[in-house]
Amino acid sequence: MLHVKGRVLVGPQDVRDELWVVDGRISYGRPAGADEAVTVTGWALPGLVDAHCHVGLDHHGAVDAATSEKQAIADREAGALLLRDAGSPSDTRWIDDREDLPKIIRAGRHIARPRRYTRNYAHEIEPDDLVAYVAHEARRSDGWVKLVGDWIDREAGDLTACWPREAAEAAIAEAHRLGARVTAHCFAEDSLRDLVEAGIDCIEHATGLTEETIPLFAERGVAIVPTLVNIATFPSLAAGGDAKFPRWSAHMRRLHERRYDTVRAAYDAGIPVFVGTDAGGVLAHGLVADEVAELVKAGIPALDALSATTWGARQWLGRPVLEEGAPADLVVYDEDPRADVRVLAAPRRVVLNGRVIG
Ligand SMILES: [Zn+2]
Repeated sequence: MLHVKGRVLVGPQDVRDELWVVDGRISYGRPAGADEAVTVTGWALPGLVDAHCHVGLDHHGAVDAATSEKQAIADREAGALLLRDAGSPSDTRWIDDREDLPKIIRAGRHIARPRRYTRNYAHEIEPDDLVAYVAHEARRSDGWVKLVGDWIDREAGDLTACWPREAAEAAIAEAHRLGARVTAHCFAEDSLRDLVEAGIDCIEHATGLTEETIPLFAERGVAIVPTLVNIATFPSLAAGGDAKFPRWSAHMRRLHERRYDTVRAAYDAGIPVFVGTDAGGVLAHGLVADEVAELVKAGIPALDALSATTWGARQWLGRPVLEEGAPADLVVYDEDPRADVRVLAAPRRVVLNGRVIG
């Protein structure tokens, strides 16, 4: 049995003095046998959410189970105990049976156009097949489907949209019929209006938001996961494209330069913004605290940036926080993370399914 004492941040304003963990679940009543409990002291938050990462994937494609396990452990050590996997070619279902690894909400395998995404990652298909592939991934995922909405078009020498509006609309309707939500990777401006009007639920990266599309997202409640720690790599990507694709490189630099303004404008308009690191393609796992700090740097108030990886993110994903009876997935810190989100970088204790893991 575990006794967490100090300040328990059940909600942004709902702070309690203690909780108990009985059989892996949270209890606010003092249970029988409490004197025997192991005590953990500090500021407790619900297990952090990384709403965009990839377990079972590196820059070459699928990885083996041992590598996937290391990735999941790196996330866990950073306090990220709920991951929305934004596309992976690996079957990581075995992780669901491991009480010591983070919980994963999968989006199946990425769906892209042929030669319009990183090799070995995606189902690469034409628009005529989109509905069928989306239905397939909706059935085998955990309620999300991931599209690649735009990518470099080598003939155009720039980012261009991947899916005609009608194909996207039919595919998103099919996903919704099957009870799944749809998200899309989008760097550029062009693909956004069509995807939102086609009914999409979320956009990853969303660097191409403008004053034209921001009100549309806000009105429809379409969330974004900016992945600023990944956007930080745009200048080096751009440098690699200067010789062959100068227009693309210049475009990537512009998107990078205005990244904080874009995120801040989206937040100010009321667009739901969530924390995601994009770990697993190129970036290392375990960067969730860095991404929260980036959102604050973009101008999102600390409490809302914190909610974007805790209370708000969990509500959006339909998972519990620290309520009575919920699985005891929590992270304990030395100081109040609401006062300074940099506290998140050094968890004192990680508790997963009621067990002190780190
Ligand atoms: Zn990604």
